Amino acid sequence: MKREKTHPTLPGLSKNALTVLEKRYLRRGPNGTTLETAADMFRRVADTIAAADRSFDETADTAGLGDTFYRMMTSFEFLPNSPTLMNAGRELGQLSACFVLPVGDSMEEIFDAVKYTALIHKSGGGTGFSFSRLRPANDMVSSTTGISSGPLSFMRVFDVATETIKQGGTRRGANMAILRVDHPDIVDFIMCKADQKQLNNFNISVGLTEKFMQAVERDEEYTLVNPRNGKQHGTLNARKVFQRIVKQAWENGEPGIVFLDRLNRDNPTPQVGEIESTNPCGEQPLLPYESCNLGSINLGKFVAEGAIDWNRLKETVRNAVHFLDNVIEANSYPLQQIHDMTHGNRKIGLGVMGWADMLILLGIPYSSPEAVKLGTKVMKFINDEGRLASRELGKVRGSFPNFTGSTFDIKDAEPMRNATVTTIAPTGTISIIANASSGVEPLFAVSYLRTVMDKNVLVEVNPHFERIAKERGFYSESLMKRIAEHGTVQGIPEVPQDVQEMFVTAHDISPNDHIQMQAAFQLHTDNAVSKTVNFPNSATIEDVENVYRLAYQTGCKGVTIYRDGSRDEQVLSTAKKD
Ligand code: ADP
Repeated sequence: MKREKTHPTLPGLSKNALTVLEKRYLRRGPNGTTLETAADMFRRVADTIAAADRSFDETADTAGLGDTFYRMMTSFEFLPNSPTLMNAGRELGQLSACFVLPVGDSMEEIFDAVKYTALIHKSGGGTGFSFSRLRPANDMVSSTTGISSGPLSFMRVFDVATETIKQGGTRRGANMAILRVDHPDIVDFIMCKADQKQLNNFNISVGLTEKFMQAVERDEEYTLVNPRNGKQHGTLNARKVFQRIVKQAWENGEPGIVFLDRLNRDNPTPQVGEIESTNPCGEQPLLPYESCNLGSINLGKFVAEGAIDWNRLKETVRNAVHFLDNVIEANSYPLQQIHDMTHGNRKIGLGVMGWADMLILLGIPYSSPEAVKLGTKVMKFINDEGRLASRELGKVRGSFPNFTGSTFDIKDAEPMRNATVTTIAPTGTISIIANASSGVEPLFAVSYLRTVMDKNVLVEVNPHFERIAKERGFYSESLMKRIAEHGTVQGIPEVPQDVQEMFVTAHDISPNDHIQMQAAFQLHTDNAVSKTVNFPNSATIEDVENVYRLAYQTGCKGVTIYRDGSRDEQVLSTAKKD
């Protein structure tokens, strides 16, 4: 079969995208020169992932499939997570973004986990841990007749290890730490990032239970439990602990919260184990030693003549599921346990980016009931089609090996290839590569100032806004600069009212509308949704509390908030650890 030629520069590849790719994604020689173009990179990834078809059929001709995958990526309609782009077809070969490692209550287990973390970070993956199994600080250590130092002191070991590795030139590591709300050290955990110099390589979330949430509603005490022996370790007032979490989040954005019982309600393989943690950005709950690879469809590419092209979307969902299932085969896992667990459940996480772009192209304001309704519809479509594709693959390739005893194992069940199919990732970097708005977030800015080489200040304008401003005749460079300085188009008289309504940014949107959108996408997502709820600096502690409760009431699996200006350093982009 004739191969499509690779182009040295891809049409549609933005300058920012090329900079990102050159910095970390493209193959380099020993003297640092890049050995491949962006097009070569996509060819490398497409052919490597397509070739995995041969693990199911030795005689498969994978060249055509390679071309399909190549087209899907170079048209920026779909991109896999960063490690797949970086490592497919290369020596390292580690393709997943998300891992969860167990941390057992012994020195051996803790330091094994530190070592495993190092191996994962080196390959570009992020790690999540539950520290809930560790005995509390000052508890008994029988072998040395000493006292234990507790989860927090061990978290520092992971933090320092992460800092030291810096991922060997790919990207710095990211960790999630979760502690159950009934762990005796919970109050120290809630406060552990109050000093903003501490634990910078961690996101932290408190694992809340239904029982705890009920105790909050009723203003009751709840029981703390020592994980070493399962014995009661005092009680605390649930509402006070909840308020402590909220106040701390108001202060500097952390801790987030995750609803553990909801993660386990949707655990497809309860017979294999309980879910105790998520990956670093919270969208992917996983069992200990499980990994998952993600991929995102760029919704902005599926609007044609003012309407959604459902047929093309369907075809892309199917190809994306095929792609992500192949990634599981092509992947080199950093540990045998991770290989086995990942192959056992075969979880994939197909999601979206460019949601805000899609809304703009359709002329629907982000914070409108119509947008929430469409979000539900689009995600239902992707979830339904994704599952169908996974079932079809299952008929040919077999169900995931842990199918028996899983929630799919019902009477007259059809095969299912993947224990989960959908996840909404932050798409921090791949959205830059695709020149799309990130995940299901609203635009971060309509125009902003960028300092280049420490001196030249450039005005970067959202391409949809620039086009509309030119079409409608209100474009001028000075206006774009003023908008960048103002931070929003709201209240700028030169911008027509209907355009102001379309170009709302993360800060113009009310926290409630952020949650409504998160909940809309969560409704038809197997795993979870990555979303930040932005608050203005003037927001009160009660405002944050209301949003935490609303997230619970609307069926979200967790929440992450950020109050403007509440951290010492504020990054411009959507605060990705890259
Ligand atoms: P990308 O756009 O690079 O593919 P995302 O921003 O969508 O990545 O993040 C997806 C997941 O990848 C995160 O939840 C986390 O598990 C992992 N991840 C993100 N950034 C990093 C990082 N700097 N180091 C390690 N893992 C990361």
